Amino acid sequence: MNEHDSERIAGVLEADGLVPANGVAEADVVVLNTCCIRENADNKLYGHLGHLRSLKQARPGMQIAVAGCLAQKDRDLIVERGPGVDVVLGTHNVGRVASLLRVAAESGPVVEIWEEAALEEGELFPSALPVRRELGHAAWVTIQIGCDNSCAFCIVPAVRGAERSKPFGEVVGEVSQLAAGGVTEVCLLGQNVNSYGRDLTTALRSVGRDPASEEWLAGPAWSGPGGAGRRARPLFADLLAAVGAVAGIRRVRYTSPHPKDLRPETIEAMAATAAVCEHLHLPLQSGSDRVLASMHRGYTAARYLERMAAARAAVADLAVTTDIIVGFPGETEDDFDQTLAVVAEAAYDSAYTFIYSPRPGTEAAAREASFVASETVADRFARLKVVVDRSALARHRARVGRLEEIVVEGPSKRDPGVLSGRTRQNKVVHLPPPPGGLRAGTYATVTVTAAAPHHLSGSLVSVDASPTHKTRIPVASG
Ligand code: SF4
Repeated sequence: MNEHDSERIAGVLEADGLVPANGVAEADVVVLNTCCIRENADNKLYGHLGHLRSLKQARPGMQIAVAGCLAQKDRDLIVERGPGVDVVLGTHNVGRVASLLRVAAESGPVVEIWEEAALEEGELFPSALPVRRELGHAAWVTIQIGCDNSCAFCIVPAVRGAERSKPFGEVVGEVSQLAAGGVTEVCLLGQNVNSYGRDLTTALRSVGRDPASEEWLAGPAWSGPGGAGRRARPLFADLLAAVGAVAGIRRVRYTSPHPKDLRPETIEAMAATAAVCEHLHLPLQSGSDRVLASMHRGYTAARYLERMAAARAAVADLAVTTDIIVGFPGETEDDFDQTLAVVAEAAYDSAYTFIYSPRPGTEAAAREASFVASETVADRFARLKVVVDRSALARHRARVGRLEEIVVEGPSKRDPGVLSGRTRQNKVVHLPPPPGGLRAGTYATVTVTAAAPHHLSGSLVSVDASPTHKTRIPVASG
């Protein structure tokens, strides 16, 4: 979500005539787009601001803006603690960044934070804003903002507000426009995509309207694998089907589904919709039911594994990835052993593993008495990494010798002499570039030649000149 906001901020500035600078020292405008989900976001912000202040002293015309959810949360404090900041803008104000910089140039520092409750629908989802995307062929599409859950470790509900879904037709319209502009891959974004649409009906009922009689909300246009006919609201499954049917869209991804809300209809839509990629990111967080309950996650380890197994059974060659927190307050050795057991059983393709660190303002941050000693957490973290890497490597090795469809992303960040692409399972493949190279966004077929825990190596077989949806590539002999 934060990266998508950064793309929009860059797009708005570019539309206003700015061009990317070669580095901070040369920049006329520096925007720090903060994310308070990140560890120590505030310390990092004030560290950067200290560095920028000295640059600004040498070049007084330079302007500094602070955006993102930390700006939304700490607003006036940022101006107070960060002299030299010209603009502080909230998560709903990204479209105003250029005009706010002009106001600040004329009249001094400005803070503009729009509160979600006061916004109209069009201001909540500003899809008409220009965007400067890192990859021309791939785009984020926000389908929902905010979160109605209350995970004890998470600051999102406090800073991004309640769940709000973007109307169904607007999401499909945005994807159609992106496809018309050459985008072939979209990633649908939300904090809890599986509850997409729930708020639309709640809002209608609160003003005495019957969702079932609202054509825009409950019409045959969105009837998908979730079942034909009129239902009280569109499901995320319907959205997957509709977005996957947009001409020119070859790959649909989404992030993130909450395990408690992963419905059979979503799994069915993944299996039935050719463009939906065979990748499910399903955050586990912990394998201990006791810890899951104290996190308020709303599922047990057994329920999680059941849903994951249903997805694997329905979607052939599905890659599953996850997020895991180590050392949540109160986590015992027995709890951690249960996490290891679930991780081993799940045999993930990869996992983002995090050492618990408190986010001020969250419920878990107040449980100081239950914090786990740092050396214990470090030891558990290292043990978890061994189990995760083992399954990732095994899954990657099983792909050696296979033909895979990739979309080229460009030169590898580590070695510009190597080309990088991504498979439908979201695995990075490095390969030697052909003479003349390959343009980012090109679809190609590669043979997987080697595997590592975090990437694959491959060699180019052919370039896909006439893209078709979900090419089923046969396994190479030998
Ligand atoms: S589902 Fe939980 S972890 Fe995810 S954004 Fe909502 S509160 Fe945070």
